[in-house]
Amino acid sequence: MRIDIITIHPELLKSPFEHSILKRAIEKKVVEVNLIDLRDYTTYKHNQVDDYAFGGGAGMVLMIEPIANCLKALKEKNTYDEIIYTSPDGELLQQSTCNYFSTLKNIIVLCGHYKGVDERVREHFVTKEISIGDYVLSGGELAAAVLCDGIIRLLPGVLNDETSALTDSFQDDLLAPPVYTRPAEYNGWKVPDILTSGHTANIEKWRHEKSLERTKERRPELYNKYGKK
Ligand code: SAH
Repeated sequence: MRIDIITIHPELLKSPFEHSILKRAIEKKVVEVNLIDLRDYTTYKHNQVDDYAFGGGAGMVLMIEPIANCLKALKEKNTYDEIIYTSPDGELLQQSTCNYFSTLKNIIVLCGHYKGVDERVREHFVTKEISIGDYVLSGGELAAAVLCDGIIRLLPGVLNDETSALTDSFQDDLLAPPVYTRPAEYNGWKVPDILTSGHTANIEKWRHEKSLERTKERRPELYNKYGKK
């Protein structure tokens, strides 16, 4: 998979891809992530990429031309399945969205800044708009990092244990059960006996019950959705 991220702060996005699981995925060439500096595509003086909003008001807006130039240059070299704009008014990012994106070959993620991007970019170039939650960040970079992490860890060969991603919360509309590791007793607090019993079938049953319990308690709407399947 190839992910091209367009940003005015490529430095800000370096670190998430230089550690742990994402780093390994890139080293194994399961995914290629390119950080593209929008300022390299402006023809304005002083690398200008933003301007005042027509009609006035506080906050700058990213201009259409540098974005259009950048997209044109990228599209000359690759074809893209989706051009994603990170935006608080986009579709709320869900596990199912990550699952979908993880099946694609090439995607572009466009990070907004300031007041956002000129609306015409959204109308004419963007194919998906994704929000990571009902709050406003100062830029799309952290949202892009969240999105990419959610996608990349699903790609085949990235997680060591192939079943690992499948047993995470949300994959089956249930939250994950509690997990424990050594020591089996700490400060008098014991791990549930069943988990140290070695009885795989009972452990699986226990985990499923805990998943149901936890989902019912914490996310009743998910629990109902699960019940209807
Ligand atoms: N004026 C806009 C907010 C702009 S925030 C509004 O009120 O909707 C600046 C940039 O940060 C956005 O263009 C977007 O790329 C990014 N951003 C902010 N919050 C986000 C969120 N919850 N999810 C995804 N991207 C977000």
